[in-house]
Order: sequence, then structure tokens, then C-alpha cells
Amino acid sequence: MMEQNRPNGTLRHLLTLEGMPKTQIEALLTRARKFVRPIGEAPVHTHSLAGITVANLFTEPSTRTRVSFELAAKRLGADVVNLEVQLSSRVKGESMLDTIYTLEACHVDVFVIRDAETGVHELVASHVKPHASVLSAGEAHVAHPTQGLLDALTILQAKDRFDGLKVAIVGDVRHSRVARSAWHALTTLGVAEIRIVAPRALMPPAGEFAGCERFNSLDTGITGVDVIMMLRIQKERMETAAIPDADRYFQKFGLSAERLAKAKPDAIVMHPQPMNRGIEIASDVADGPQSVIKDQVRNGVAVRMAVLEAVIEGRGP
Ligand code: ASP
Repeated sequence: MMEQNRPNGTLRHLLTLEGMPKTQIEALLTRARKFVRPIGEAPVHTHSLAGITVANLFTEPSTRTRVSFELAAKRLGADVVNLEVQLSSRVKGESMLDTIYTLEACHVDVFVIRDAETGVHELVASHVKPHASVLSAGEAHVAHPTQGLLDALTILQAKDRFDGLKVAIVGDVRHSRVARSAWHALTTLGVAEIRIVAPRALMPPAGEFAGCERFNSLDTGITGVDVIMMLRIQKERMETAAIPDADRYFQKFGLSAERLAKAKPDAIVMHPQPMNRGIEIASDVADGPQSVIKDQVRNGVAVRMAVLEAVIEGRGP
């Protein structure tokens, strides 16, 4: 794994939360909190990224992550360019690195990258000029660090602590970068008990998620938990034959109001979205009083502002 920090200890790239020190995660959450405003109030605007250019390069679909990185950069005063990959030269055979060099020549300072392949982020990070940063907006099934941070922030806002919490991560854990980044963040932050709840076919390989108890039953897996993190079935990462039948999946692993009652009465329900209503989660639960799904989206902008500000501030004057 490559070094994400500069020699002076400041964050330069954000590719993973694995191995990130607790103090650094906490500092990003603290920084993000100052950017959170209730929905309906005017968002924070600053000039801390004035003169900086951020490029969003997404080769996989995205709504929230792309929009929130763009809004985050603009609210900090940066110039932003969004590369639509279908239109970009990558489909004409231009390599990712040539695209990066072209953008560098246009004074791009921060590359926000989502890619379905593993290793692209690290490849780019190891080739960009010393002043430039690479931020992962999702790497295959492996990492989605800003999602892990926004999930941690959402839990902290709702529960005011990490110590002693019981968290159930439910659904297609096998193919989920959201689950992996949440696990890295929450274990580092001191969550006592993280449960993996999934059908056998969607369990992560043995050896991953060390220390987590595994459950094949949703009812047992969520009994007494403080946090339920639901996941989307990642059909795009499965062979067609392996895609579970929607009705059967909901019967066994869908979070209904009745099932939610097994968790603690004040348990929160999370989902990174996009949601398959009626497959992994019932609509009344997704929109119900225990759902913090909209808070996750709002916190996504704040976390991305914090990460952008931190990597630019760390460059020094
Ligand atoms: N939006 C999240 C991701 O990019 C979750 C999902 O797609 O299911 O991984």
C-alpha cells in the first residue's frame, strides 16, 4: 500500500482508510463537522481552495459522490472540471496516465477518481507531480474512503460515541467497497462489535473482515444492534446467474419495519444508496424515523470539503 501522507505527516492522497491513524480520521471528522449545516439552511462557502483546480474522473456511474465532490470543491472556491468518461479519450485508447498528464498541463491539482478496476488510483497517485493529490471516489469492491468517513460522521452525530456500539453491516458485503471502508474506519475509531450479515454467496472471503462475527440470518444478526448499515446488491460485480431473486432476497434479507424491531429501539438505519426499495430495504423503513440516509448524503458534502481542504492546506504556502 502506498504512503498517503506527505513526509511532514499531512494528508496528500486519500486512497483507503486502511491503516489510517485514528487521530487523522478524527481530525477529518472534526473538520467535516464545521461544514455541516441543517438541510434548508445556506451551505458554507469559503475561499480556501481559491486558485485550485479539481478534476472529477468517473468511469463508473455515480450520483451522490460525483455531485458532492463537485459541490464540495465549488463551495471551497475551486475551479472544477468533470470528465464524462464515455466522451473522454480513454475510450479512444488514450491511457489513463496520458489523460492525467493532459489535465496536469491544464493546472489540475486534485484528481478525484472512481474506477471499476483496482490499482488505477495508486498508479495515478504514483505518477502525478509532487504538488498534486489523488482522492478515491470508489475503487472496484475495495475502497470508498470518503463514504467510510461520512458513515462514521453520521454514526457519531446520531450516537455521540463509537465505544461500545454494535454495528451490523447487511447484504452484499462481498462486493461492497462501502462495507470495507466502513469496517476500516469503525474498527480504528473503536467500535466494539461489527457484525457481517449476508447470505452465504454474498459473504466476503474468509480472512477478510477479521474480528467480525458472521451471520446468515438477518433477524439474529441485527438483534440488539445500535446501527444497521444496509448495502445494495452489486449486480454489476456479479455473474448473471449469481444475482439473487429479488422477492426471495427481500423475504430473507430485506429490512422491514417488523425486522427492524429486533434492533435497539433507538437503532439507526443507514444505506449508501442507490437503494433498491423492496429488495434490500422496505420503503417505510428507508423513509422512516430511524433512517439517517439523508444525513449520510448531507454529510458526504461536508466530508469531501474536509478532505479537499486538508490535502490543499497540507501543501503549505
Ligand atoms: N454508491 C456506493 C458505491 O459507489 C454504493 C453502491 O453503489 O451501492 O459504492
